[in-house]
Amino acid sequence: MGEIEHVRYLAQAVDLATQNVANGGGPFGAVIVTADGRTFNGVNRVTATNDPTAHAEVTAIRAACSALDTFTLAGCVLYSSCEPCPMCLASALWARVDAVYFAADRHDAAAAGFDDAVFYEFFDTPVEQRPMPVAKLPLDGEGPAAAAATPLAPFAAWNDLETRTEY
Ligand SMILES: [Zn+2]
Repeated sequence: MGEIEHVRYLAQAVDLATQNVANGGGPFGAVIVTADGRTFNGVNRVTATNDPTAHAEVTAIRAACSALDTFTLAGCVLYSSCEPCPMCLASALWARVDAVYFAADRHDAAAAGFDDAVFYEFFDTPVEQRPMPVAKLPLDGEGPAAAAATPLAPFAAWNDLETRTEY
């Protein structure tokens, strides 16, 4: 994709973000562009839909995958008005997009009051110092709280399923 196309789609994402403010959403927009030039828009709808995961990039990925009837966006490019937060970056990785381009960065978002930079810092913080604990717990205790489930049972079930769809 040439530089002119990059600028065009990035500007489209930024315009979506700006328009979304007047439409009850956060100031974020995103565009998914397929290899053959189809585009799918997404805007932030966190407060509008009470969905903390409704970031512009995720919304665009959902729109593209739904319309294309697929769970992979390999061959697509994601343009975002702002640097993707860790959730959106991971979503882009899961969606297998070819590239992600953004206009404003995490520091611009922080200056506007958003936690993108804070969440990136979470991953750079030693596990024991993180503000939200994320910890592996043993399942195989004794007494009434002991669970019948084992941590690897879901994976065993998955591997035994011959009709599984790999992703
Ligand atoms: Zn995000």
